[in-house]
Amino acid sequence: MIKRWTIDKIREFVEKNSESKLLTNEYLGFSQKLQFKCACGSNFEKTFTKFNNNNQRKCDVCQPPKASRSVE
Ligand SMILES: [Zn+2]
Repeated sequence: MIKRWTIDKIREFVEKNSESKLLTNEYLGFSQKLQFKCACGSNFEKTFTKFNNNNQRKCDVCQPPKASRSVE
């Protein structure tokens, strides 16, 4: 599926699909690290690909990157 993301679509996606908020105001491409604000109040950086495809939708404290236990 080819889908062209814009910063507005990403922001909408983030708000609908996570408890985080998007802080970045410009989307430059899939390899760009975007700034998010986690529900806990911490800011974190992630590419949208990771956020979307890998379900990394919280900061590293709330959701450690290599957690092996199954959540949800
Ligand atoms: Zn957090």
